[in-house]
Amino acid sequence: MNTRIELLNATERRVIRHLKRAPRLLTAYQIQSALGIRYPNTVYRALQRLLEFRFVHRIETRNAFIACDDPEESHHPGFVICSDCGLVEEFDVENISLLLRAEAAKRTFLIEKSAVEIIGRCQRCNSTVVKKPIHAGVR
Ligand SMILES: [Zn+2]
Ligand SMILES: [Zn+2]
Repeated sequence: MNTRIELLNATERRVIRHLKRAPRLLTAYQIQSALGIRYPNTVYRALQRLLEFRFVHRIETRNAFIACDDPEESHHPGFVICSDCGLVEEFDVENISLLLRAEAAKRTFLIEKSAVEIIGRCQRCNSTVVKKPIHAGVR
């Protein structure tokens, strides 16, 4: 990993460090304002390079980004995404990926991108939602 890290410029390193510290997804705008970067294009370029080097993944349904758990390995990531707090966890979807490619091949459909994203509520957000009506009932 060290060798590929060395290929990154200062901005790209700042962006990946920031993403690694965040356990949740961040939009390009959130990254830009958190790091005080003046131009949006600077952030987009950095993200593009980080995507090419597989240091980050794009969460398609949210147009946001997350640091990859294991950038060394080529893999087929899927994500669970909490719509309340933005928590994201990565998991491997190699089997689903094969299925998607087979379906596309059957139709001679050229895949540009595909995404496996499960959107819902994480355990913590879900338990706070469940508690509310119980308290309301006691009152
Ligand atoms: Zn990954
Ligand atoms: Zn949550």
